[in-house]
Amino acid sequence: MPGEVGVGDALVTSQPGMFVSIRTADCFPILIADPEKRVVAAVHAGWRGAISGICSKTIQAMERSVGSHPNDLLAVIGPGIAECCFEVGPEVAMQFEPFVEERTRIDLEDVIYNQLCRSGLLRERIVKSGICTCCEGEMFHSFRREHEGAGRSISAIGVLF
Ligand SMILES: [Zn+2]
Repeated sequence: MPGEVGVGDALVTSQPGMFVSIRTADCFPILIADPEKRVVAAVHAGWRGAISGICSKTIQAMERSVGSHPNDLLAVIGPGIAECCFEVGPEVAMQFEPFVEERTRIDLEDVIYNQLCRSGLLRERIVKSGICTCCEGEMFHSFRREHEGAGRSISAIGVLF
């Protein structure tokens, strides 16, 4: 049913004509498609989502609900805050591997990419944008750069027919 489902980290649909979308400003939009089972998913992952394994959970949900095979899936990791701009304090850094207890930069895109690979997606079927939302101010909204006034970028995916 069209409308807003409120705050969530992942949306999955197989209904023709229906699009699922997410709004981000530095967090990563991940769009996943299963051309065999005709199912799509839109995932929103900040560092907390990445640590909680939101992509793996979404893929598991696709496997459970419609019998998706991970090696059939296509995924795009859209623009988010890249390693160049994502510096975190020790309290966040220590939650990522390899564990460090000091200020450091985190490559969330790579964390998400590796998670998709561990879930069984084929490397050649995962596309990384490689774009930093914080550096690319002309094109993307960034919470870190614009703070509370930041707009949001919209990523959407659907099953057309
Ligand atoms: Zn950057």
